[in-house]
Amino acid sequence: MTAKETIQRLKQRLADPSLKIAIIPHISPDGDAAGACSALWQLFDALGMQARLLSCDYFPDYLRWLPRVSDAISFQNRPGECKEWLREAGLLCMLDHNTLAREGDLEPITRKFRGEILMIDHHPDPEGATYRFSDTRVSSTCELLYTLIAKAWGKAIIHPGIANALYAGISTDTGCLSHNSSRPRTYRVIADLLALGMQKERVHDHLYQRCSLSRLRLEGHCLLNKMTIEEEYPLAIIPVTRQELEKFDFKDGDLEGVVNMPLAIERVLVSVQITERKERVKFSFRSKGEIPVNLWAKRYFGGGGHRNAAGGQLALPLDECVQLLRESAAWFFSEHVNDTRG
Ligand code: 5GP
Ligand code: MN
Repeated sequence: MTAKETIQRLKQRLADPSLKIAIIPHISPDGDAAGACSALWQLFDALGMQARLLSCDYFPDYLRWLPRVSDAISFQNRPGECKEWLREAGLLCMLDHNTLAREGDLEPITRKFRGEILMIDHHPDPEGATYRFSDTRVSSTCELLYTLIAKAWGKAIIHPGIANALYAGISTDTGCLSHNSSRPRTYRVIADLLALGMQKERVHDHLYQRCSLSRLRLEGHCLLNKMTIEEEYPLAIIPVTRQELEKFDFKDGDLEGVVNMPLAIERVLVSVQITERKERVKFSFRSKGEIPVNLWAKRYFGGGGHRNAAGGQLALPLDECVQLLRESAAWFFSEHVNDTRG
């Protein structure tokens, strides 16, 4: 089916005002997932549709100003409401992820979902979905969602609240337009959003200028005391323990972006942050240029993602995770890194 046909079928389905809709981001939602959820729910509001936002965990504070995000129902404290809405819903919208496996504790329930699924995403290897909008070339899910809305309903339906949310996703997923943003189309979308009333200063203020002192100190601690650079490989590693997180009063989202910082060093081509969380250790991978860190995340760390930004997780002690990363670096750098730096 062509994208045009998929849009037509989706519009027909949304013509039914009794349809109940569930919007779901991936586990540990980031700015792109939150921006897309906010924009899509605001669109459904404008269309007079009944939607709810369900998340397996929580949206971090720095994203809760986005319209509708603070109305999300978390499976962690309101599991009954999530289950009930999913029983009643006829359409499930999975945003910024392309497999139900990225829905954490909601996965066992969404796997049993019998209605239709709308996927809007930009990761490789999508699985299933009745209406699938998936494109790895776009900067972000929000950029793709903009195109979908504009094609299906016309730009005029995008009011400033929707425009702000879409821009929040584009800005955060590209590191303020530093990566994943070499296509002219991304800038045309941003120009359109500005013309539609997007408030760039306001969005930047919320996203980048309201962090706590302890968050900034945690970043400093990571760079000064935790980051190591391997001698054999152009690889930076930042391991962070739970104790350290507690010491710096960690809140979800506080480590967002830290893994990118070592890439500022000329010799470093790959940066990995390994963070000890409650039941698992979380891996964040970043790379420069053509280096496909998603293949490393997939093969050894139960994860995946984009070529230059990937993640994974293991239920092993932190020091064993660091060791596994170091051991598997030999395989990764010999198989997938041609750059002779380092
Ligand atoms: P982050 O390092 O910001 O948590 O994640 C970067 C990217 O890696 C995300 O946008 C997502 O595409 C991917 N990713 C992170 N964690 C996982 C995971 O556990 N599994 C998979 N498949 N992808 C992940
Ligand atoms: Mn994204």
